[in-house]
Amino acid sequence: MRLEGRFFDGASSRSHRASVLVEDGCARVEGASGDALLPAVELERLEFSSRVGNTPRFLRFPGGGSFETDDNDAVDRLSAPSSSVGGFAHRLESKLRYVLIGLLVAVAFVWGSVQWGVPALARIAAFSLPAEVTGHAERMALEIMDRQLFEPSRLPQEEQARLLAVFAPLTEDAAQDPPVRVLFRAAAGPLGANALALPAGTVVLTDPLVQLAQHDEELVGVLAHEIGHIRHRHAMRSSLQASFVGLVATLVVGDVSSVSSIVTALPLILTQLGYSRAFEREADQYAVETLRRHGIGTQPFVDILQRLDPSGDEKGAYLSTHPPTPERVRRILSGAKGLTP
Ligand SMILES: [Zn+2]
Repeated sequence: MRLEGRFFDGASSRSHRASVLVEDGCARVEGASGDALLPAVELERLEFSSRVGNTPRFLRFPGGGSFETDDNDAVDRLSAPSSSVGGFAHRLESKLRYVLIGLLVAVAFVWGSVQWGVPALARIAAFSLPAEVTGHAERMALEIMDRQLFEPSRLPQEEQARLLAVFAPLTEDAAQDPPVRVLFRAAAGPLGANALALPAGTVVLTDPLVQLAQHDEELVGVLAHEIGHIRHRHAMRSSLQASFVGLVATLVVGDVSSVSSIVTALPLILTQLGYSRAFEREADQYAVETLRRHGIGTQPFVDILQRLDPSGDEKGAYLSTHPPTPERVRRILSGAKGLTP
């Protein structure tokens, strides 16, 4: 067998056109005119570079010389001479190993992107959306919910006005962006005692929630939590995370209103799917800080949470969208410090 290629003597960087003649288990490097450039060497003493696609291969000789050739198949035959079956198994095995490593890297990359990349991008997108766009998404989502889930509130006008005055210190905080407004709705169907934060600053309190409260400060606590969801843009972030297409469109075109999936996902997230535990912790942390700033204790907030969930297990609509109450209560009463990730 003869392989054509180039020979490097290991001492200078010059290469010579050469060939390797393989005979009787020995390899002999010959120059263009057939002269021996190296004495014959047993094949076992050669090192073969491994095959990477169709890139040239090297045969390394004991004295430091090396021979480069494009004849990959011949090198494969030389480097796996013992048996063709063994050689085939070896090649298959080494290829499988590359495939498996590649697969693992791909899976890790996708998992990492979903775990960190998508939420990070959704956060950037949600905070960079112009107010008109979130306003549009909010109006569409509220329209859908008003058609399917809500009825006009049956709370007397004076009671609504009185509560809005109670909420004023929180809703009229000058630093609010976007500004917060509170709406009351009777909840048809399974929504029950509940509170929802829409993306552009609207908080909906249901009549049963208002009736459940024994003190106004309890509702102020719930409102502070919902404002936390608004401040942290949780509604848009959740929708964007849920709709990869919507996320890409938002990042590239800067317009979410053209992606109807985001708008239609909002009511579902707000009323059934709920936010991630991390988002709920952020909203609770915001509530604790806000109540402190306004000189209101956290106990009334805890009281209404426990009344929403007297048994401490997860039942009911509000609880299906919120973490278990005992865990939250512990965190809120401890000031939510150091426990939020
Ligand atoms: Zn919440």
